[in-house]
Amino acid sequence: MDALTEGARDAQGEWVPKVLPEPGPWFRSPLEWKVILTTIFGPRGRLIGSAKFLALTAVVWYFLSPKMEQTATLRIGWILLIYLRNVALLTIIAGRLHWRLYVRKVQDMKYKYTPKWPATDDKKFLFGNQTWDNIFYSLVSGCGVWTAYEVLFRWGWANDIFPTLSFTNGEGLDGLNLVVIIGVLLLVTPWYQQAHFYFTHRLIHWKPLYKIAHHVHHRNLNFGPWSGLSMHPIEHLIFFSDALVFLLIPMHPLIVMFMLIGRGIGPAGGHAGYHAFVRESRGGEEKPMPGLLYWGKGADFMHHLHHRYFTVNFGNLGFALDKVLHTFHDGSPEAHEAMLARRKAKKSQRDTGRVAATNE
Ligand SMILES: [Zn+2]
Ligand SMILES: [Zn+2]
Repeated sequence: MDALTEGARDAQGEWVPKVLPEPGPWFRSPLEWKVILTTIFGPRGRLIGSAKFLALTAVVWYFLSPKMEQTATLRIGWILLIYLRNVALLTIIAGRLHWRLYVRKVQDMKYKYTPKWPATDDKKFLFGNQTWDNIFYSLVSGCGVWTAYEVLFRWGWANDIFPTLSFTNGEGLDGLNLVVIIGVLLLVTPWYQQAHFYFTHRLIHWKPLYKIAHHVHHRNLNFGPWSGLSMHPIEHLIFFSDALVFLLIPMHPLIVMFMLIGRGIGPAGGHAGYHAFVRESRGGEEKPMPGLLYWGKGADFMHHLHHRYFTVNFGNLGFALDKVLHTFHDGSPEAHEAMLARRKAKKSQRDTGRVAATNE
């Protein structure tokens, strides 16, 4: 737990971890193969993370979904069941974290980035209450759009409109398909999803789109698990749209479901507001909070800085496009200075443009 629980509060009282976020080890030079292998194959590595998510997806696909032939016709019954299943999935993940951290307050402010509880009397939120506002946007719009995408795919698959790839062919297991499906899952999906997130996130920071849609998510300066999927419907449409590539490219439905579920429940942990999730053992010792998906890991400090400063950290660490495209902030004073210098340069560029336009 040390790497997660070591840190201190800065001058504004915000929690800053001692170990600052670093781009994936494959971005470092020289390459440290031991670190790369641990990051991928280690007990808390990416492979185990993907396997857990895939297991959850398989349970949903095989046991908590309507039969394929049923979905050939759009009917309210099966669509409603999918919606309620998605609501239940998100409520289990976000609700559990919220219950422990914000209702039972098991950690109080320990390792919490912003030392404040969610707003309970603030007009910028629906009902004047940040948590209820976030729950509303997540369950109504978030799960609504997530379900709409899933319904589109299921209806298209059932009617043979969208191509699929199967594990089997007429003679049994299809080895080539199996390799392609696993390869896409492990090698293509993470990079593709992170690139999609980075570029669409920059797109919705474009002023008109920010004003219409993305500001809804950014009202949560002090975020919590329910803030993750709390977005404007337009942002939800963009956020879940990464799966649309498989309307044209043949792929096993499990992969599409994996992507949709990842988008649906993934942001809850990253936005939980605490750098580490811990519990106290009977002997008073601090232990990681148990959980199938989040074993003590805590929220995403890099994304917390995005909510705090707006103009940095549009993406993730795995495919560190922020580093490559100079929008990275790791929380260090040097990165902060660099961000301020970029802002100043941009402002003077705008001012010069304005003066030139006036003189014309
Ligand atoms: Zn966010
Ligand atoms: Zn943003």
